[in-house]
Amino acid sequence: MRAIRRFIVQPVLPEPLKPLGELATNLRWSWNLDTRDLFADIDPALWDEVGHDPFKLLARVPSDRLDILAQDKRFVRRLELTVADLDEYMTGDLWFQDWAKEHPEAPSAIGYFSAEFGITKVLPQYSGGLGILAGDHLKAASDNGVPIIGVGLFYRHGYFRQSLNAQGWQQERYPVLDANEMPVRPLRDGEDPLLISVNIFGNEVKAQIWVVQVGRVPLLMLDTDIDANPGHLRGTTDQLYGGDQDHRLAQEVLLGVGGVRALREFCRVTGRPAPDVYHANEGHAGFLGLERIREYMAAGDSFDTALERTRAGNVFTTHTPVPAGIDRFGLDRVREQFNGFGDLPIDRVLDLGRETYDGGDPGVYNMAVLGFRAGQRANGVSQLHGEVSREMFRGLWPGFATAEVPIGSVTNGVHHRTWIHPELLRLMQPRVGESGPQIHDGCDWSALDRVDDQTLWSAKRHMRTAMIEMARTRLEASCRSRGLSSDWVSDALDPNVLTFGFARRGASYKRLTLMLTDPERLKRLLNDPATPIQIVIAGKAHPADDIGKGLIQQMVQFADQEDVRGKIVFLPDYDISLARPLYPGCDVWMNNPLRPLEACGTSGMKAALNGAANLSVRDGWWDEWYDPRFGWEIPSAEGITDSGARNAQEAEFLYDIIETEIIPKFYTRDAHGLPTGWLRMMRDTIQILGPKVLASRMVNDYVEELYTPAAVSSRKVQGEAAVELAGWKRRVREAWPQVEVRRVESGITGRVAVGAEIVVAAWVDLDGLSADDVEVQLVMGPVDADDWMHDLQNHSMTLDGVNERGISHFSVSIPAKDPGSWGWTVRAVPRNELLAGDVEMGLAAVAPGE
Ligand SMILES: *Cc1c(COP(=O)(O)O)cnc(C)c1O
Repeated sequence: MRAIRRFIVQPVLPEPLKPLGELATNLRWSWNLDTRDLFADIDPALWDEVGHDPFKLLARVPSDRLDILAQDKRFVRRLELTVADLDEYMTGDLWFQDWAKEHPEAPSAIGYFSAEFGITKVLPQYSGGLGILAGDHLKAASDNGVPIIGVGLFYRHGYFRQSLNAQGWQQERYPVLDANEMPVRPLRDGEDPLLISVNIFGNEVKAQIWVVQVGRVPLLMLDTDIDANPGHLRGTTDQLYGGDQDHRLAQEVLLGVGGVRALREFCRVTGRPAPDVYHANEGHAGFLGLERIREYMAAGDSFDTALERTRAGNVFTTHTPVPAGIDRFGLDRVREQFNGFGDLPIDRVLDLGRETYDGGDPGVYNMAVLGFRAGQRANGVSQLHGEVSREMFRGLWPGFATAEVPIGSVTNGVHHRTWIHPELLRLMQPRVGESGPQIHDGCDWSALDRVDDQTLWSAKRHMRTAMIEMARTRLEASCRSRGLSSDWVSDALDPNVLTFGFARRGASYKRLTLMLTDPERLKRLLNDPATPIQIVIAGKAHPADDIGKGLIQQMVQFADQEDVRGKIVFLPDYDISLARPLYPGCDVWMNNPLRPLEACGTSGMKAALNGAANLSVRDGWWDEWYDPRFGWEIPSAEGITDSGARNAQEAEFLYDIIETEIIPKFYTRDAHGLPTGWLRMMRDTIQILGPKVLASRMVNDYVEELYTPAAVSSRKVQGEAAVELAGWKRRVREAWPQVEVRRVESGITGRVAVGAEIVVAAWVDLDGLSADDVEVQLVMGPVDADDWMHDLQNHSMTLDGVNERGISHFSVSIPAKDPGSWGWTVRAVPRNELLAGDVEMGLAAVAPGE
């Protein structure tokens, strides 16, 4: 019979064991080995049974076992030490505290908004890379003491769980998550859970706020599945990336608008300072900008002033160059939703998100555009993605060169304590009392120099073995659910064989099936008696993506064939619990996206931290840090426009590299049976590449390059400054169409000797603006055959005087430095110290051509 309601009977911990409760509810356990070991020792069999979930373990451990442990002095002592360690971690000075001593302008707090967070498998609130990245961001912020508060939604069904039918077609399940069985607590005001409410399409939708402790970082998750909501509204937070456009819009309104309200309540109840920086991790959270404007307007600001205050503190990170990956809503739906939202004029709300630029659709509300317009600072997630994004969104800053578009980049990173295999992590433990620059983020990055080849190779073999055990368990279950025989599974995969991994969401640009281009050639590689390879594959396709599901099916049907079965395997239900043992178990991590569509990619980083070589198209992060010491580049055949031909060419490169380079390197052994060349690559990858790919590096970059400048800007526009800035912008916008560089004068002739002075003067009509409102610049750069300048340099020109007709005269003199063909022009741009840069307003008056 089916229950109509459920409840949890909670165990009562004996007094000496009470602190276990604190350890279980702080997710730091998920990346702290000592805490995990402590929980495992409570009841090793049960620990495995509950899938290494401390909260579930404590709920189920028999009370006589608890009594025994409470009497066990050594256990209680260990518990005390572990709790003392957590207390120190929670309150001690970490990287940020030291940094802030030298940078008093550092932010007081940062609100970090994301539609998904992947922290541990016990909180399945993510679909893939974006969520894992957000989780790693919070963990690294915690480790570094960065005062972040996470804001997200609590999805009753999380993301779907994947299984396969007999034909290899993806099946989706949506199990119900019960918050009572999870390490979350409701935010309360006194006795009662606190509720916030947001008007969504005319309905007051209420949400309660679950607080999750991620080390030092609180994460707030909004949940609408509560009695206070009528049935049809309770489902607002039913599942991640499910439902139609309206449902998606409703979720994003809740995340952005409701998220700010939740943050306010949290800060009020806990007495924390309000954030001065608001970070939208991808466009889903963009509506937070509208709520912040509403707040300022409610306090008396005009729309323009409120916008300036909001922009100063908002940071936006764009995560994809794939147009379909960017949320775009019908303008009418957004109008209906935000008509009457506080005092915000609806046309201004719409203008913030409309694609009013060349190539855009002004009938569409684009969440990335909103992110750029509602924030002063924005970035992509690798250098290459920064470049691609500048090209993609250049229309928002007309009048400027692509390279000047104010979208920077912070390359993603991964949280090493989550992703490095425990055995390897222990080898990298700093020695007692040792210090030096090689020791940072809790690891000694030169420690492997003290580890001999034999030990390192045997660690890798253990890692492969552990992965294979995990894989066999999953294959066994998968065969059972598909109704297939599993007699082959106990021999599937071999811990001595060169192992390739390929796991990622089933988005088509990632080209899961590229390796199947020449099936016979792949089979020969898998079946070579002397130097075989094996491949482990995983990935979910979005439930609405039949093309992605088709690719998975093609892969599964290939792997089902008897002559390759157990040598190439597809593991269903890719998630953190699959991923953690998978990366360490691989020797080569394979990645073949259509360049440049992979914004960053992080799975290759997690593999690298475990000594796996990368075999990847130079896209995302691999374009930046590729080095033959860390793996191989699959040449990208971007020049070939026919996609079939391009795929065929890139597949051929892939097979060639595997055959001629990877296999020989792995199977060439010394007298002791060790692959010395391969071990060298493992060492270099971990020691040299490892420290670059860390989430701690990423978070510090955000603090230094984005959060702190945003906090500074935020403070600068307090009080009247924002009013003045808004007024100044209006004045500049009105005058700008008449601002004109009338004439330029220069003594530069065809040839100029290095060291000679270049003198340029310009007559500029400022149309009533003052010389303090603009900067007139000499822009120079090497030119190509079409007179396009590259690597622009700006030289600011000084005002010499104003003639009787009110035209200003500017000039500059600089020495000619580098030989070559140079070009130059003169332009005027708005200048104000409250702007993040000269490009911010997208306005430039450029000298007319000859
Ligand atoms: C790392 C990770 C991803 C993202 O990998 P990409 O390389 O960015 O595609 C997706 N899912 C899980 C479970 C992961 O651990």
